[in-house]
Amino acid sequence: MKHHLAAFSFDIEDWYHSQLIPSHHREDAGDHSVVREGTERILEQLRRHGVRATFFVLGEVVRDHPDLVRRMVDEGHEIGCHGMHHQPLWDSNREAFCQELRQFRALVREKLGDVQVTGFRAPTFSLDRRTAWALEVLREEGFAYDSSIFPAKVRMYGVPEAPVGIYRPSREDLARHDPAGQLVEFPVAIAHWGPLRLPVGGGFYLRALPFGMFRWSLDHILRSRPFALYLHPREARPEQKRVSLDPVDGFITYVNLHTVVEKLERLYPRYQWVPMREILEREGHLRGPSV
Ligand SMILES: [Zn+2]
Repeated sequence: MKHHLAAFSFDIEDWYHSQLIPSHHREDAGDHSVVREGTERILEQLRRHGVRATFFVLGEVVRDHPDLVRRMVDEGHEIGCHGMHHQPLWDSNREAFCQELRQFRALVREKLGDVQVTGFRAPTFSLDRRTAWALEVLREEGFAYDSSIFPAKVRMYGVPEAPVGIYRPSREDLARHDPAGQLVEFPVAIAHWGPLRLPVGGGFYLRALPFGMFRWSLDHILRSRPFALYLHPREARPEQKRVSLDPVDGFITYVNLHTVVEKLERLYPRYQWVPMREILEREGHLRGPSV
């Protein structure tokens, strides 16, 4: 049986960048920032386990914490782009997104020098049928892969017909595989049994689902393909300041925060982890002269 690899990705942003936090909290948000402490805790744990990962970093984090991003590079992790300020693609357009990607690349060059950035993850998995134009922009701006199409329907996002494994989205229909496609899609983990799709990509799902079921689903996926998980710095900081939200948003934001670090302790030794780009290279998805 072919042995597949696993990837852990981290979306490096602060607590107030979450779509579920009302914007008025941003005014004094910096006083309770968790991006540095949360990321340091993540990096420390990865180092202890000898795991290399992918960090989709916000441009404003590159600007404000260049030493933190430098540490990621120095410790062998991959840097990807999570946009400049966490604006979902739903609120952007082709032109503005193109400028945003260029601004991000210029900032990385200024703060970090010649660091390869070939992967992108949209804030709030906002790449869906409404924003499929973004794939074209990513291709034009030299990105090799995307990890923003969420192949299940949940409350805020999702393309339930999209493939659950790595594929090349067609220009006409982002849920259809086109072998000639220029850009590779590496979606976060979704387990599926017949018509049922269960998100097990990390974040809320890692916190809320029974851990045995979560792990069993990952084992199941790995028999046929690699998987990618995601997490945020705020999820590694259970002691963070909490704000009052409506009951559903509060549940999604804060449920089982205290379990995350311990769950990672059990996940890291269980699988063979490499950055997302390495999985794509090793499994032959980044072939071709354009990359
Ligand atoms: Zn994000």
